[in-house]
Amino acid sequence: MSRDRTLKFIAFMAREIPGFGIAYKDDPPESMRLRDRCLHWLARRVNSDYDQRYTTVLYPIIYLPSGTRRSFEEAPEKYYTTLRHEFVHLKDFQRYHIWMAFSYVFVLPVGWTMRAFWELRGYAQNLICWQEDYGRVPDSEVERLADIFSGRGYVYMLLPRSWAHSVLKSLQRSVEEGRLSGVYPYGDLDWPLE
Ligand SMILES: [Zn+2]
Repeated sequence: MSRDRTLKFIAFMAREIPGFGIAYKDDPPESMRLRDRCLHWLARRVNSDYDQRYTTVLYPIIYLPSGTRRSFEEAPEKYYTTLRHEFVHLKDFQRYHIWMAFSYVFVLPVGWTMRAFWELRGYAQNLICWQEDYGRVPDSEVERLADIFSGRGYVYMLLPRSWAHSVLKSLQRSVEEGRLSGVYPYGDLDWPLE
């Protein structure tokens, strides 16, 4: 993972997303806008791992987990895939903000949800990054994501697991066959990395 590529991608995000910034969940609350403080407060009540385990987008800011500031500043390239994933959420929010806010704030129902729709677009980036770096998407990544999609972290957004698995398998095929690439579904943007 190259540092240069990551810095270029961050500059690209800043051009695409007015007001873009990277912050940390353990930043002083007074450094955050009130809306973000309220949403963090709410999310912590729903999910006790919220601060430690999850990166969260509150447009136009990406909040990395607590305790990651140093590691990000020293080696931003370790977060490259995360940035690619969160970038799609930022663009989706820019384009569909009402629907997206609605589907996250009202976390129910479970099963086949709008959250799963948005997260499939985000996690497509994780698969595309595998393809770009290694020329393939390992089955272990599909299994890991099937757990995420059907697990409690995102409040069971795609159930049953076998369904999540088959949706992700077809995403894996699309990526490996080159039908999905770059910052899909925003491939018409001025891609900074070639
Ligand atoms: Zn996501």
